[in-house]
Amino acid sequence: MNHKEIIKLLIQELTLEEKAGLCSGLNFWHTKPIERLGIPSIMVTDGPHGLRKQKSSGDHLGLFDSVPATCFPSAAGLAGSWDRALINKVGIALGEECQAEDVAVLLGPGANIKRSPLCGRNFEYFSEDPYLSSELSASHIDGVQSQGVGTSLKHFAANNQEHRRMSTDAVIDERTLREIYLASFEGAVKKAQPWTVMCSYNQVNGEFASENKTLLTDILKTQWGHQGFVVSDWGAVNERALALEAGMELEMPSSNGEGDKKIVEAVKNGSLSEQVLNDAVERLLTIILRSVDEKKENATYDKEAHHALARQVASESMVLLKNEDDILPLKKEGEIAVLGAFAKHSRYQGGGSSHVNPTKLDSVFEEMEKLAGNADIHYGEGYKLDSDDIDDQLISEAKDLAIQSDVAVVFAGLPDRYESEGYDRTHLHIPANHRRLIEAVSEVQPNVIVVLSNGAPIEMPWLENVEGLLEVYLGGQALGGAVADVLFGNVNPSGKLAETFPQKLSHNPSHLNFPGEGDKVEYKEGIFVGYRYYDTKEIEPLFPFGYGLSYTTFDYTAISVDKKELTDAETVDVHVTVKNTGKVAGKEVVQLYVRDVNPSVIRPAKELKSFEKVALEPGEETTVTFTLDKRSFAYYNVQLKDWHVETGAFEILVGKSSHDILLSEKVKVESTVSLPVSFSRTSTMGDIMAHPHAGPVLQEALAEINKDSPMMGEGEGEQSEMMAAMMKYMPLRTLVSFNESFTEEMLANLLKKLNDSVSN
Ligand code: BGC
Repeated sequence: MNHKEIIKLLIQELTLEEKAGLCSGLNFWHTKPIERLGIPSIMVTDGPHGLRKQKSSGDHLGLFDSVPATCFPSAAGLAGSWDRALINKVGIALGEECQAEDVAVLLGPGANIKRSPLCGRNFEYFSEDPYLSSELSASHIDGVQSQGVGTSLKHFAANNQEHRRMSTDAVIDERTLREIYLASFEGAVKKAQPWTVMCSYNQVNGEFASENKTLLTDILKTQWGHQGFVVSDWGAVNERALALEAGMELEMPSSNGEGDKKIVEAVKNGSLSEQVLNDAVERLLTIILRSVDEKKENATYDKEAHHALARQVASESMVLLKNEDDILPLKKEGEIAVLGAFAKHSRYQGGGSSHVNPTKLDSVFEEMEKLAGNADIHYGEGYKLDSDDIDDQLISEAKDLAIQSDVAVVFAGLPDRYESEGYDRTHLHIPANHRRLIEAVSEVQPNVIVVLSNGAPIEMPWLENVEGLLEVYLGGQALGGAVADVLFGNVNPSGKLAETFPQKLSHNPSHLNFPGEGDKVEYKEGIFVGYRYYDTKEIEPLFPFGYGLSYTTFDYTAISVDKKELTDAETVDVHVTVKNTGKVAGKEVVQLYVRDVNPSVIRPAKELKSFEKVALEPGEETTVTFTLDKRSFAYYNVQLKDWHVETGAFEILVGKSSHDILLSEKVKVESTVSLPVSFSRTSTMGDIMAHPHAGPVLQEALAEINKDSPMMGEGEGEQSEMMAAMMKYMPLRTLVSFNESFTEEMLANLLKKLNDSVSN
């Protein structure tokens, strides 16, 4: 018997109470077993960038100890790699650790969009761009699931802030929801089929995500074809029966029988169909049996190999943001001042449910010493970790060390208390003592490099004073070695920003509406999120989306397309040649953006539609091929309730960042779907005239009217142009108002003719 058949039989055997019981957890981390029918209990646990399996019964924010596990860079860091294959490798390693620890489902990755840099949990999310976020989420999911371990794509949907995350209502227009906030999940669901999707705490357009049938059933299951089950975020269930009806199968953690009771009651009183419960149980059992099947007995993993992978991943995720006069890589000679407490006690992960107990932890300072060759390294604490207060003594010691050295590397960023799950930041500053350290050191030493550890963008009023800047994000347990690798040039940095760094907070498009009023946050900036806003509005960011430097240089030498004209049912291949023109090997993230040249709907200046990371030896060149399809040119049309391409010209823009476009090509895309058109008495003359079939019909009618009525007269020269411009916005019904001889009956006849012409 296959699983499907077994599950059918089980559903027949299970009592109503047992079926309801399967729809909530046994405790914090396990599903309920039903021993009499041999249904096992499986463990689900955090996630996303390391395993947090608690030793004791547990809480959910990591207050209790968890078993040691490899702490990889968090998503904000991983995203900097723009490397699907690398993130897939991380997923595989995570899957191995889950197998070794008997964990069936790892709770992650997070695909929420970085709407505001203030969101306390941005370190757990990939990007401000839905395409990039969905691609990287899919790689993560594929990796974990290749090991027979499930994932939980979270937090579905629109959990873009921590402020009032359990009650707030995210009010988002349909197009924005589809193009930005859902698209980030859509790609990952369709490509990688996560075993589970976790619904978010918040409301979306007036309904809790856990009770939102549009989201959980119509969109996720029906339109996207999700096969697994939906699990609630921990404590996200409001009314259990409504949630089940909406498509939310597993309530976590256990509600101590309360939720189960409500389901039983609802079935008994007829407000919930038993079929809905059966369908939910079928989805749950499908995953439970699958995980039992794929369980690897006595699995182990190689801790050292995973640590080494964490180091590689961290080094390939960091983003080199400034490198004046090639101050980096550091020379392995002379005197180097290493300043700031983060050099010895690094900030390598974020706070909350993703907090991992690492298998080991590198110290940046020690790893730098190992790679320093003939250089002497001197450490100065610079600031106290647990305070923002400026310590004059530590600053003066740091200055002295900087003066005596050839170069100073200052470690700064955001301490734990500044960003975490559960609350948002209110500003983009680093602590005063970190800032003072950077400023004091750059007063006495011209060669200053700042290394930042933070989960999200910060303001940098001191940027002009420093020569080098390396954004490390939260680099995981091996960040020490990775930082040393990049600083000394053992690894050539290749990360690019997966989000815009604004010059100041008020430039962020969500600024006026974040985090909302009371329990309501309106996404009034619409589709203009991140670079879609900065680039369209022409606001110069501190660092643009997609930006990142290398120790080598790349030339983009040729672009071609395999067709110049296509329909939206076809694809087009774009070939781009990239050459490493520098002296060292390196990796480049080649980015492809699309611009609708003349849209009739509001669209951003450009949108990321593809990317590829390539490795090139000095002098080597390669041709990268991108394939674009309908979705690359489409916007979400709320009238069609579908993606739609407007017939016309599109620019394909290829470059090193959203700001550094080096090559472009134009293609013409023709839509195979025409938008439904119907005219009414209030349709404007201009809209009717613009229609290829209705236009001539109206033209003819106007000529007829003009024959007898000089009021709509043709005029001459400039006058006629003015008349035409004015008429463009006149509703059709004004033909009656402005012409004695044109009756309501004639208007009705004309309307019929016009509508006949568009339906043919
Ligand atoms: C978080 C989830 C997490 C869950 C279990 C919730 O508070 O939002 O991301 O997976 O707890 O720890």
